Amino acid sequence: MAQLILRPGKEKSLRRRHPWIFEGSVDRLEGRARSGDTVEVTDGQRVLAKAAWSPASQIRARVWTFDAEETVDDAFFKRRVAAAVERRKALPELARQEGLRLIHAESDGLPGVIADAYGDTVVVQLTSAGADKWREAIANALQKATGCARIYERSDSDVRGREGLEPVKGWLRGEAPAGEILIDEHGVKMRVDIETGHKTGFYLDQRDNRLLLRELCAGRRVLNCFCYTGGFSLQALAGGAREVISIDSSGPALETAAANLALNPQLDAARAEWRDANVFEELRRLHETDERFDLVVLDPPKFAPSASHVERASRAYKDINLRALKLLNPGGLLMTYSCSGGIGIELFQTIVAGAALDAGRDARIVRRLQGAADHPVALAFPEGEYLKGLLVQV
Ligand code: SAH
Repeated sequence: MAQLILRPGKEKSLRRRHPWIFEGSVDRLEGRARSGDTVEVTDGQRVLAKAAWSPASQIRARVWTFDAEETVDDAFFKRRVAAAVERRKALPELARQEGLRLIHAESDGLPGVIADAYGDTVVVQLTSAGADKWREAIANALQKATGCARIYERSDSDVRGREGLEPVKGWLRGEAPAGEILIDEHGVKMRVDIETGHKTGFYLDQRDNRLLLRELCAGRRVLNCFCYTGGFSLQALAGGAREVISIDSSGPALETAAANLALNPQLDAARAEWRDANVFEELRRLHETDERFDLVVLDPPKFAPSASHVERASRAYKDINLRALKLLNPGGLLMTYSCSGGIGIELFQTIVAGAALDAGRDARIVRRLQGAADHPVALAFPEGEYLKGLLVQV
């Protein structure tokens, strides 16, 4: 096995069990390794970890194990995958979910591996050279741990490019189900398009927050910005909202949203309106026409995929938050999120505070919001906390 020798002092983050080894920490590679191969990581004396080598990426290696004695083989993936699935079973709120994240990458000890279950279909996304290499072992382990009927691979996220990997899509185990894939979320049926939807088809990370919204909505006029397939909108209707206006700029997402509403005859469709529009422009228009809401949801896409986008992204976040705050009735609530890895919770709070100031609204945080428990954040890996939100009352 090839050895990755660290520069002096660069073993510190590994001792804290952080799984990433950046280009600048690598002194040299001794021996030969191809992309995705397992290498031993040493400080020149002792083996500190075994990691997946990724020569094309700035993250030059990702740690599989900090145990120098552990072998990275099929049995390793069987153990790690089974442990991740078991951890979810231990949390009652997760044990009953049809849509469930089974593996949350680094935070489940499996860098570059995402796996989501939608009923008996599992969708896997492999985003690192190491994960890509172990595709078969991971698929076997998932099948064994879950007993799922089929596994689809959705490795078409752009982050693969940074690892020198091409997009990959297709059935790994079993074949496409006869009908659509539907999940029940808090009593609402939602269609999941695993082949062309965002991420693996659905934003499972917002599950708890959609339930919170539902509890806040009775009798309220709600504006849901960046609604995608209507997850927040349908929960708002289920919570008794008086009216729900939902905005997205994707026609197919809105079509699915309307179809989702039709799947749920218990909801009053007459209270829902879908608008195909750019949120930035529509918020301005709503202000100009003096519209007011009791509750506004802002769940935009990642404006800052990495640290280099932070400045522009901050302006965009401020812009939508400012406009949304202006639309609120007295006592109204803003539920606002950022899923940008490059923007931490402190910066996000500062941005929202600036937005409130410029909007001339006196506002307070009544809740801090995060991803659901099936999207855990390993304490050694704070980067895992990409989704942060605030519930703000004016
Ligand atoms: N809240 C959703 C997920 C939102 S994903 C849920 O719970 O499922 C972000 C959405 O923003 C995508 O559907 C995308 O089409 C939409 N979007 C991105 N930029 C936009 C813009 N400028 N205006 C309107 N919609 C936008």
